[in-house]
Amino acid sequence: MPGFRVHITGSSIAGAGYGLAAWYVGDLPPMTCVLGAGLCAVAGMMPDLDSGPGIPLRESVAFAAAVVPMMLVHRFQQAGMPLEAMILAGAAIYLAIRFGLAWLLKNYSYHRGMFHSLPAAAVAGQVTYLAFGTEEPLRRYFIASAVVVGFLTHLVLDEIWSVRLGMFGPKFKKSFGTALKFHGPVMWSNIVTYILAILLGALAAGDAAWTEKVAKVKQQMEQATRTYQQYPYQQWQYRR
Ligand SMILES: [Zn+2]
Repeated sequence: MPGFRVHITGSSIAGAGYGLAAWYVGDLPPMTCVLGAGLCAVAGMMPDLDSGPGIPLRESVAFAAAVVPMMLVHRFQQAGMPLEAMILAGAAIYLAIRFGLAWLLKNYSYHRGMFHSLPAAAVAGQVTYLAFGTEEPLRRYFIASAVVVGFLTHLVLDEIWSVRLGMFGPKFKKSFGTALKFHGPVMWSNIVTYILAILLGALAAGDAAWTEKVAKVKQQMEQATRTYQQYPYQQWQYRR
């Protein structure tokens, strides 16, 4: 099993490449690229949230508790929440992640369970998509995909580390095939993961349709303003 350092290095390299490509080829705003690169790097730690109590779990959960409410600020604004409600909601989410999620992870997850799986990567991407509620679809997909790329980097590294090159070709360790997988040996966690993936997928699809509608209305309004502005503007002419 590759350690914490291997994972953070791998996902940081992947994140840097992903961000640079988006900036260079995709012409995305630099800040969006930096956020995408950072999220990709952090997402490379996510699957190991199942590795039991320890410094990585504590630090990752604390980090998520701080960053998730920040990502949701725009969503709160969209919902028309006053500042007081935003602060309260942010604090509630912080506590829910810092203590609720940490408790769930400590008590109900097991290493190389469904956290190390392809549907879990999809769930991570969907949650990010729903949380990062910008009106521009491309930026939204970019940020959500950044998390998926980081997550997948972790799974791929786990699989690479379970193969060792011996004298007579590659040797597969017992852990081979337990990271890049569609389902694990425990039925209830398979079911929970797939229900989550389907539910979040439906939510994200609904949200995408709504965003598209908003974007279209906005475009029409802009166009209307432009046409209006193009009307010959006549100044008052005084006759002598
Ligand atoms: Zn792992």
